[in-house]
Amino acid sequence: MKKQRKERITVAVILLCLLTMVGAVYLCSCEVRKNLRIEMQDTLREMAEQNKSAVQRSIELGEPFGVYLPEWFEEFLNGEAFDGKGYSCIVRVDGEVIAHSAGSPIYGQKNFFECALRNPEELRDAFQAGLSGTGVFVLNGEQDFYYTPLEFEDGQQTWYMITVVPEEVLAERMQPIMSNVEQMLIIIVIIVACGVSIFLLTYQIKRKELLKLAYTDLLTGADNFACFQKKIKRKKGIHGYIIAMDLSDFKIINNTCGVATGDKVLARLWKVLHDGIREEELAARIYADRFILFFQEDDKERVKERLDELVVNIGKISEDLNTPRGFPVFGVYETTNQETADTDYGNAVQAKHIVKGRRDRNYAFYEELDYKQVLEKRAIEDGFEQAIAEKQFEIWYQPKFNVESGAVVGAEALVRWRMPDGTLFPPFKFIPIFEKNGMIPKLDEYVFRSVCIQQKQWERDGKSILPVSVNISRVSLYYYNIVEKYKAISNENGLDTKYLHLEITESATIDNAEISSLIEQFHQAGYQILLDDFGSGYSSLSTLNMMHFDAMKLDKSLIDYIGDENGEKLLHYIARLGQNLGLRITAEGVETKEQVEFLRNLKCDDIQGYYFSKPLQAQEFEKLLANAI
Ligand code: C2E
Ligand code: MG
Ligand code: MG
Repeated sequence: MKKQRKERITVAVILLCLLTMVGAVYLCSCEVRKNLRIEMQDTLREMAEQNKSAVQRSIELGEPFGVYLPEWFEEFLNGEAFDGKGYSCIVRVDGEVIAHSAGSPIYGQKNFFECALRNPEELRDAFQAGLSGTGVFVLNGEQDFYYTPLEFEDGQQTWYMITVVPEEVLAERMQPIMSNVEQMLIIIVIIVACGVSIFLLTYQIKRKELLKLAYTDLLTGADNFACFQKKIKRKKGIHGYIIAMDLSDFKIINNTCGVATGDKVLARLWKVLHDGIREEELAARIYADRFILFFQEDDKERVKERLDELVVNIGKISEDLNTPRGFPVFGVYETTNQETADTDYGNAVQAKHIVKGRRDRNYAFYEELDYKQVLEKRAIEDGFEQAIAEKQFEIWYQPKFNVESGAVVGAEALVRWRMPDGTLFPPFKFIPIFEKNGMIPKLDEYVFRSVCIQQKQWERDGKSILPVSVNISRVSLYYYNIVEKYKAISNENGLDTKYLHLEITESATIDNAEISSLIEQFHQAGYQILLDDFGSGYSSLSTLNMMHFDAMKLDKSLIDYIGDENGEKLLHYIARLGQNLGLRITAEGVETKEQVEFLRNLKCDDIQGYYFSKPLQAQEFEKLLANAI
């Protein structure tokens, strides 16, 4: 709509320019005409004055007018004195025509005043007063004339000589000037037309380029989501399936083979998907390895067959490019395109999550979703702001114990959501959702602030306080100014940063190149940084080397190795590695006496686990501290 408006405005401006030009030319021609008229009247006056003396002389010689005509008078009567372009007549003061030159239209007119004069009265007065002057009379168009009295020595004769130059003469004189003006006008019009054409042409080309940029994914040449959204609008009411697709483990391809190879995989992936759709169907890349398809199919079984074919063809990409095998997953949503593409895509993505992380299936249909779960997810998403405002998030504290002495050395703050109906949601239910929808930084900040306030309160009440570690999601770490924000929160509560530790998961260190510098900044602000969940994912030894953590938290999955010979060896070496790097070692998820014994022998520093204590509500933790001291 906007574009059309712009085009209309451009055309209107161009038309206005042309109109202005034509108007200017018209005004110019009027001005030329006026000047020519003045010039003509001067010429008329001159010519008439020249002829006047000859006419006078002839009449004074007693040659009766009309009997003897000297040569010049012949010319006068034939109109040749005016080069054939004018004519004259002699009229009496009362307007009676006495003589006139050949071809005069006054011929046949008895009285000059009867000719359609514009201002006969004025002329009559001028004749009476014996004046000379110019006038315009209308006879076969407008005619300019000059009148001058013929004076005779006896002073008895009162005749007037009228000299006329007709309109055609004026027009003829104007002709060359006007044809110049016309030529100029034509040239101007041509120039303007060329300019406008060039402008419109480049505008069209630029518009096409811009449209291409706006609707194309530059990496793969695929349509982008904006383009898909535009095209799917034309499918309103048409039955089909919206399919959300991505490659599980695409990150591994990128990390192990490099981004350039990752890009090649994406380009090939697009080709496979594009080849897999019919002309009337749609496909687009959303971002990274996420694609969307529209199968214009009626039959669900046929959709399954086509997806199976796609899986086979996608499998060939890793063979051809010699990369780790990316596992394609599809979520399928049946639609008649009544909703927006975003809504349908959102549903397809939800379906995709059913198979995400699984290796036994590549696709799932939206109908398979557990509707209760979907509703719960929606309630979680929609309830966040209110939950923050109404302080529905509770902070629980899980104590950490020194392995040797068994003394409480600190705690980890763990969030829970107390729903208005009293049910308590554990973090695994809502944290992944908030990490996806971008709410998590706000929640992390909320937890951090609550811990600061609680610690300060205990301090004010004269209770002993110990360092409490707060989890920061890897997603929060991407947000600008996080260190400044956290510093400001602990400062505003007047809490010494030595009572605040921060837990960053191992996975955060993989995705975020800035993490090393962030850790440095947190250190400078006085916080200790704990590497959380070590051993749960791709444990990278170089991460340990590059990033300066203060402590390493061994994930429960490692602790569960205790009792297994190889697992114990692994734990042994990991603990040595951490100790040699100067890290404090905390074991998480410790549940048995056997595990505690093993960790004590390993010279592990602290233990956090159900064996000693589950996470406790603030008052319980407070009591535990009071009893322990
Ligand atoms: P985490 O940071 O690794 O926290 C330890 C989790 O292990 C806690 O689960 C804790 O209750 C559980 N745990 C501790 N000892 C044992 C044990 O002996 N056996 C078993 N089976 N589990 C044990 P929780 O509280 O459910 O928290 C789960 C995860 O949620 C946390 O793992 C953390 O990643 C995340 N989380 C919790 N609170 C926050 C928060 O405020 N912000 C962020 N970003 N994440 C949080
Ligand atoms: Mg933690
Ligand atoms: Mg952990």
